[in-house]
Amino acid sequence: MIKENVGELLAELPDGVEVVAAAKTRTPEEVLEAVQAGIKIIGENYVKEAKEAYELVGKRAKWHFIGTFQKHNVRRKVLEIFDMIESVDSLEIAREIDRRCAQIGKIMPILIEVNSGREPQKSGVLPEDVEQLVREISGLRNIKVMGLMTMGPRFGNPEDSRPYFVETRRIFEKIKGLELPDVEMRYLSMGMTNSYKVALEEGANMIRIGTKIFGERD
Ligand SMILES: *Cc1c(COP(=O)(O)O)cnc(C)c1O
Repeated sequence: MIKENVGELLAELPDGVEVVAAAKTRTPEEVLEAVQAGIKIIGENYVKEAKEAYELVGKRAKWHFIGTFQKHNVRRKVLEIFDMIESVDSLEIAREIDRRCAQIGKIMPILIEVNSGREPQKSGVLPEDVEQLVREISGLRNIKVMGLMTMGPRFGNPEDSRPYFVETRRIFEKIKGLELPDVEMRYLSMGMTNSYKVALEEGANMIRIGTKIFGERD
């Protein structure tokens, strides 16, 4: 099924849209199957799962961290595996990534996670604080800000997600227009299985898809 699902999804997407296969709870074998079907980027929420899948799949895919990134995640092996961290939401964590990446001679591309739904329990920075955080992080030499990511609140009806995608896009364009040094606003990562069509209409060029690729999670 994974092969068919990936084929269907890739066929319907416009050029220039990158698919991140959200792999949480999936086995390394399932992740490999998705890659063999044409997926180029794997999104991981958990370091342990990422390591296991990486053992099998390795450099056949790019690896994005999309979960809640915490200080204890900033370990050498983790920083070596990941090609991008999509969920940076504080200067503290950015500094830690920067410091560790300097030690291994890597410049880590990151996205800033926006808490577009302003949900207290959710990770991400509030919309009004994004620009300031980007400015602060832009001074760190081993990190490169490459765009924004948002989840938005979960809704049954994907239309309800639209205002949150619109808001995140607005912030993205504003920061892009500032042309800050060492900031390259290239990726706008938003939209999941039930909302990616709306996200694409609102300017997403990176979507994170789990269920539609791998099937329902147990
Ligand atoms: C699980 C997850 C997704 C994908 O969710 P689906 O609804 O299964 O497509 C996207 N982004 C993040 C951060 C996730 O944790």
